[in-house]
Amino acid sequence: MEISGRTGLLGLIGSPVGHSGSPAMYNYSFEILDLDYKYLAFDIPVEKTEDAVNAFRTFNMKGGNVTMPCKGEVAKYMDELSPASRIIGACNTIINKDGKLIGDITDGKGYVRNLKENGVDIKGKKMTIMGAGGAATAIQVQAALDGAREISIFNKKDAFFEKAQKTVESIKKEVPDCIVNLFDIDDTKTLYAEIATSDILTNATLIGMKPYDNETNIKDTSVFRKDLVVTDVVYNPIKTKMILDAEEAGCKVIGGKGMLLYQGVEAFKLFMECEMPVEEVKAKYYSDL
Ligand code: NAD
Repeated sequence: MEISGRTGLLGLIGSPVGHSGSPAMYNYSFEILDLDYKYLAFDIPVEKTEDAVNAFRTFNMKGGNVTMPCKGEVAKYMDELSPASRIIGACNTIINKDGKLIGDITDGKGYVRNLKENGVDIKGKKMTIMGAGGAATAIQVQAALDGAREISIFNKKDAFFEKAQKTVESIKKEVPDCIVNLFDIDDTKTLYAEIATSDILTNATLIGMKPYDNETNIKDTSVFRKDLVVTDVVYNPIKTKMILDAEEAGCKVIGGKGMLLYQGVEAFKLFMECEMPVEEVKAKYYSDL
């Protein structure tokens, strides 16, 4: 579709953005759906976040996405935040609803949707999740909002441990029905005991990706029961060592590539108010899914 005087604009802000697959994926979706919009990436340092949000308003942009380092900062300039964005204090999606800018975060929604697409419903389940960084926090908050019964978080006693303590407090306050606890990942006895009573095990640490690609947080593979769903957020490699070990033990496994796709699918639904043509996008950009 040719650009005209009526073509609407969407965009990604953050830095760096040159490597992002979002412009190609969204513009391809507009083409398929015959929507008169274009999506561009704007390299925005964190100190220019407010200016960038003002540009969204001035140009009446339909919406867009936010990546590091602007994800936290952008939340300050939204007119409204989704429950997940409010709890986490960050946004990866901006929605322009009749001039009002709403911030949302779809990493957790993408994780939950990816589970659903693979036949797993988080509602009523117990999850053991390793990690307390950006991806882990988004998953923990969304899982609680979507009705997970219990979440056991494990992390190293590094700078992220304190972040996890805050997440636990927030979930307890905002979703009191969800039981949430935090443990030291080096306490493997407790880790394996929590996995034994969980439905879902998730890795959301850097372990599994380069330079940790031959490593796994789960050294004792006897914890992989056949009825345990084992998921990883790491998508490069497509199958981490943990996923390969769990697969060999007969577990249902779900890798991180689907979460990457579905966080974009969920963002598209929020700012375009329609479904992305997932099958076409999958065939063109996610052939390894
Ligand atoms: P982050 O830097 O915010 O968090 C890093 C996490 O890894 C922390 O919990 C930290 O304690 C832990 N960690 C670091 N070194 C460790 C070690 N040696 N042993 C055990 N734990 C260790 O990172 P992030 O943005 O949350 O990303 C985490 C992973 O998730 C990355 O592999 C990233 O590519 C992936 N990710 C995937 C998606 C997706 O859509 N599939 C989205 C975001 C991130």
